[in-house]
Amino acid sequence: MSAAAPCGPPALAGATARRVRMVVLDVDGVMTDGGVYMGATANGESVELKRFDVRDGLGIRLMAKAGLHLAIVSGRVSESTRLRAAELGVDEVHQDGGARKIPVIARLMEARGVRWEEVALLGDDLADLPALRRVGLPATVANGAPEVCEVALWQGKRVGGGGAVREFAEALLRARNEWTRLVDEYCRERDG
Ligand SMILES: [Mg+2]
Repeated sequence: MSAAAPCGPPALAGATARRVRMVVLDVDGVMTDGGVYMGATANGESVELKRFDVRDGLGIRLMAKAGLHLAIVSGRVSESTRLRAAELGVDEVHQDGGARKIPVIARLMEARGVRWEEVALLGDDLADLPALRRVGLPATVANGAPEVCEVALWQGKRVGGGGAVREFAEALLRARNEWTRLVDEYCRERDG
C-alpha cells in the first residue's frame, strides 16, 4: 500500500491504481448525497434539482488531465446530471432508468479497448453491485451500502455529495504518483 497524505484519503494499492485506464462514476449517492429536490414551476412543469460538490469537479478534471477515460453512469434519468456533466466537460454521461450499468460500461470499454481489470468504479448502492463485481478497482463512499462495502477494494472517509469523488481522485492519483505534479500544474496555470 502507498502512504496516505497526512490529512489525505485512505491509501490505494499502487499496482491496482496504475492499472486503471477508465474511471466510472455513479451519480446519486456518489456525486450527490442521494437526495432529489422535486417540485414544479407555475406552469406545472416538473423540476428536479440535485446538489453537487464543487470540489468533486476539480478531482474529475485532474483525473481527465492524467489521461484517464471518464464516464458518468447513472441509474436515474435527470437533467441535473446532464447539466453537471456538461459543466465538467465529461462527454460520456449515460443515464439508464433501469440501472443496467454493465452493458453501458462494456460499450464504453469496447470503444476504447479497455478491459474490466482496467476500470475503476465509484458506486454506493445495489445498482452498482453487478458492475463493481467485475471491475479491477471497485470503490465506494463512506456511507456505501453494506453489500457494496463488502466487494470494494477501496472505501473513502467522505460520504456521497460531500467530496467523495474528490477524495477518490486524490487517492487514485496519489497511488499513481501523479497527484503532486497535477496540483502543481494546476497552480502554475493560474499563476498569472
Ligand atoms: Mg448511487
